[in-house]
Amino acid sequence: MIPDVLKGFMVLVFVFIPLERMFALHGQKIFRVGWQTDLTYYFTGYFIGKGVLQVLLVFSLLSLQTVPVLSNLVASQPVWLQFLEAAAIADFCYYFAHKLLHTVPWLWKFHAVHHSTTHLDWLATVRVHPFDQVFTKTCQIVPLYCLGFSSEVLAAYALFCSGIAFLIHSNIRIQFRFLKWLIATPQFHHWHHDDSPKFYNKNFAAQFPFIDLLFGTLYIPKDRMPERYGLEISVPTNYFKQLVFPFKIRRHFPFLNKSQL
Ligand SMILES: [Zn+2]
Ligand SMILES: [Zn+2]
Repeated sequence: MIPDVLKGFMVLVFVFIPLERMFALHGQKIFRVGWQTDLTYYFTGYFIGKGVLQVLLVFSLLSLQTVPVLSNLVASQPVWLQFLEAAAIADFCYYFAHKLLHTVPWLWKFHAVHHSTTHLDWLATVRVHPFDQVFTKTCQIVPLYCLGFSSEVLAAYALFCSGIAFLIHSNIRIQFRFLKWLIATPQFHHWHHDDSPKFYNKNFAAQFPFIDLLFGTLYIPKDRMPERYGLEISVPTNYFKQLVFPFKIRRHFPFLNKSQL
């Protein structure tokens, strides 16, 4: 029997590799710089993500007993409405967690690992330091658990969340027209990976650009895409070296400064 982690990987390979071949934004190889590192993140991140969900589930079972009024109110709503509410609440929480990752110097050292990729594609999605992964997932999921969203809604949201994450990092040039204002697209998130701090301090939301519009951080120029990705400093490309990178780097390096807020 094929394990779920491998099945998911095969689905991604069969969906995104042909898409990136047909609609390539930048001419780059499948086996570009750092692919082995990102492949390692894919498999380790899967199990870290599962572990985080198990721990959060235990906490949520405890907290649900403390807010039964809210959980009853949420549970009485139709599933489609619960899904929309869960997605909006989680993305608002993600927005602020992501902004903290960019504004608090010691958090930025962990998040910088995600921004270190110089080639964006679907596999670059998973280059996230485990601490960053635990931090953002906790900020997104805890409010949903505490509010009592059903397990079907949480499962549907998790699937939606992963699908959008792989899409927005993918190396594809597809015109989403008016949809780009409603839902995150490569056009939206690639600017967040531009190598200039001026741009990577834009577009913090994971799924809904209107959240950035609301807080004045939206940047989607017409018909233009970034040319270079990454950071002004060099981050090691090796997986294990990236894990210890936030603990080893002593000095602060460019991140969102006060004048850009
Ligand atoms: Zn970021
Ligand atoms: Zn990203």
